[in-house]
Amino acid sequence: MDSVIVQQDQMVAATARDFAEKYIRPNVMEWDETQHFPKEVLQQAGALGIMGVLVPEEFGGAGLGYIEYVRIIEEIGKVCGSVGLSVAAHNSLCSGHIAQFGDEAQKMRYLTKLASGEWIGAWALTEPNTGSDAGNMQCVATADGDGWILNGTKCWITHGNSSDVMVVIARTGEPRKPQSSTAFIVERGTPGLSAGKKENKLGMRCSETTEVIFDNCRISDEQRMGEVGDGFHQAMKVLDGGRISIAALSLGIAKGAYEAALKYAKERHQFDQPIANFQGISFKLADMATRIEAAELLTLQAADMKNRGEKVTKFSAMAKYYASEVAVSVANDAVQIFGGYGYTKDFPVEKFYRDSKLCTIGEGTSEIQKLVIAREVLK
Ligand SMILES: Cc1cc2nc3c(=O)[nH]c(=O)nc-3n(C[C@H](O)[C@H](O)[C@H](O)COP(=O)(O)OP(=O)(O)OC[C@H]3O[C@@H](n4cnc5c(N)ncnc54)[C@H](O)[C@@H]3O)c2cc1C
Repeated sequence: MDSVIVQQDQMVAATARDFAEKYIRPNVMEWDETQHFPKEVLQQAGALGIMGVLVPEEFGGAGLGYIEYVRIIEEIGKVCGSVGLSVAAHNSLCSGHIAQFGDEAQKMRYLTKLASGEWIGAWALTEPNTGSDAGNMQCVATADGDGWILNGTKCWITHGNSSDVMVVIARTGEPRKPQSSTAFIVERGTPGLSAGKKENKLGMRCSETTEVIFDNCRISDEQRMGEVGDGFHQAMKVLDGGRISIAALSLGIAKGAYEAALKYAKERHQFDQPIANFQGISFKLADMATRIEAAELLTLQAADMKNRGEKVTKFSAMAKYYASEVAVSVANDAVQIFGGYGYTKDFPVEKFYRDSKLCTIGEGTSEIQKLVIAREVLK
């Protein structure tokens, strides 16, 4: 990678790091305990371009590429995985979908507000009975005069209650048939749109996750994105980019846990010496460092390919699969290195451990990533 890109990527990382240290770090445990979704902090992040990283400058975004995006999510993830998840869902799912498939009027109306952080975005694909099997969705959009009526329930939606605008993929044809779903943009306050249960989660607790209910929710045809029937195809393309952000988030969590464990291993004494002197601990640190480097290379490769406009389905799935599993194993090792102290909320590793697990589930589980990779390698 040429040095200009590396320099820019380091500057962007420093901005995100400063922001995370100043506005997120002091509140991490309070937000986690209370499940407070810090919408106001995300709105502040908008002023620094963090809420419109990939959005072109003509629509008010930072107009940066995927390498810088990875660095931003990683730096935030090092401090708080939950805020990292929210920033990722807003940028690559909601804004990412509108940027790729919205028309000029939709981009002008929504991307400008999303990129500034004035509006928070959500993206709704998953339903109670269709998670991995998302193509079989039951939430239905029925044509009605010059518009559409949405009925059904989405679940696990990041910012399902607090978002100002939501991209929704709903069924417009026969289940399991190709071209049977369509993407729509629904604004907060639209009659018939409401949030259901807020999930009480193991980790990622300050990233709001709720059900979303559509009850005869009427929207105009101008809210449709792209062609009728193209929704699932669009969603898979959006996830190709989104998975790079979950890989970056995993990397941030893994690095945060590793750095805390490395420091602790040098400071904590047992048997009259630092525990880092014991091979059982130093080899763990060696394994953690090696896996993190490998995950970083895969993630940057996927990001670089995405910047070049290459097809990234296989590589974004590999990066997401590998980096998320690394995050879980590194966070697990970090808790072990901290011993009993790692099992308390007085040290950061227990939160990294809890947060890391989401990365192997959201935007497609590890099993689904293997399915995607296998399909690509067997072509
Ligand atoms: C905190 C959080 C935030 C989320 N945010 C969003 C969001 O903003 N928008 C959104 O649309 N969704 C969101 N999701 C949903 C997420 O993408 C789904 O949870 C995920 O895709 C898995 O679906 P599921 O939970 O229904 O699990 P299931 O699909 O029921 O899977 C259960 C288990 O079966 C395995 N499995 C399923 N099918 C196969 C197969 N063919 N081969 C092998 N194994 C299989 C899975 O890997 C998993 O281990 C979020 C989830 C969480 C937890």
